[in-house]
Amino acid sequence: MSEPVARHAPIVIIGSGPAGYSAAIYAARAMRKPMLIAGLQPGGQLTITTDVENYPGFADVIQGPWLMEQMRAQAKHVGTEIIEDIIVKAELDRRPFRLTGDSGQIYLADSVIIATGAQAKWLGLPAEHKFGGFGVSACATCDGFFFRGKDVAVIGGGNSAVEEALYLAHLARSVTLIHRRDGFKAEKILQERLFNHPAIEVVWDTVLEDIEGAEEPKGVTGIVLRNVKTGAREERKVDGVFVAIGHAPATEIFKGQVEMRDNGYIKVKPGTTETNISGVFAAGDVADDVYRQAVTAAGLGCMAALEAEKFLASAELDHARAKAGAAA
Ligand code: FAD
Ligand code: NAP
Repeated sequence: MSEPVARHAPIVIIGSGPAGYSAAIYAARAMRKPMLIAGLQPGGQLTITTDVENYPGFADVIQGPWLMEQMRAQAKHVGTEIIEDIIVKAELDRRPFRLTGDSGQIYLADSVIIATGAQAKWLGLPAEHKFGGFGVSACATCDGFFFRGKDVAVIGGGNSAVEEALYLAHLARSVTLIHRRDGFKAEKILQERLFNHPAIEVVWDTVLEDIEGAEEPKGVTGIVLRNVKTGAREERKVDGVFVAIGHAPATEIFKGQVEMRDNGYIKVKPGTTETNISGVFAAGDVADDVYRQAVTAAGLGCMAALEAEKFLASAELDHARAKAGAAA
């Protein structure tokens, strides 16, 4: 079977979250005909949440998946080619840059915007893996429905954990939120809603040591907790466990090529989206371990597209000058 013909674009954007779509909107309006590779999660992290209350421009509460549909439609409308593929290999040590899709398609790019965002972190317990999809989840909006009228636990203390607990409290009989410290990182407004909810119990200073379950039918039956201050162990009966302990950057395919910080986030020059490779830019949660918001990701996507445009224009000018010099 013959290989598919390589596709070439001045700007290839990897990722379809707020950073990727915003970069696409700006790149397309600069007439750079960008190709955007959507990845495994078209629309990114906001597609696994419900209410979004802090994205500017909407007085009413909007839904994450709806917002991402709007961004996608806008990116398409202004001329982005959106491709349903996953980049499995990136060769950034050659020009044009070469990206390989899971489909086998090769994408060549004069500049690349990495907007691959972040993925849910796990605690690393063997039982998480064993019962993944059988009572253990990292997405309440995806899997909460299976726990109607049941008892569930949520692990974490950030915005995600508090939101997951609040979401699950509408469906489940009880929600136990387990946090390793005695204070949440989550926004105060979310904390207030949480503390006022009668179906949610907060267990402070406590970590999840193990998840217990049955084989037939396969499913979670309980959790083992340990208080980090007293060392006391406790078992609780639950039907589901939602792990919401944050996200890690999706940078695996760029390891050894693009400079990264110790925590795996892509390193950019301060105040820019420029990586250590000229022509390769990184925007959104993949390079931001501080703000990690939809609006900041969108802003960084815009910056990446403007910087990519400047890079391409400068390369074109150099090329024209060299050509003129050779002809003279
Ligand atoms: P992401 O949204 O993570 O998108 C990454 C994209 O890259 C995805 O499309 C994925 O498919 C793609 N990708 C990854 N690897 C590859 C690959 N190899 N090839 C091709 N594509 C790839 N922020 C707010 O401001 N307000 C909120 O209310 C809010 N709620 C949230 C609720 C939850 C449950 C979560 C998890 C996050 C929430 N956030 C919220 C944070 C917000 O979603 C992120 O900051 C934002 O989505 C980051 O955008 P991004 O474009 O950088 O990356
Ligand atoms: P996060 O802010 O990094 O919080 C992770 C939480 O999990 C922290 O409370 C942390 O504890 C805890 N944790 C981490 N590792 C742990 C471990 N091994 N064992 C037990 N607990 C552990 O992550 P997030 O809540 O997913 O949020 C990520 C980003 O998305 C944030 O910037 C957030 O603002 C944004 N977001 C925004 C919204 C919103 O605006 N409504 C909603 C969701 C997410 P410590 O507190 O002790 O560190």
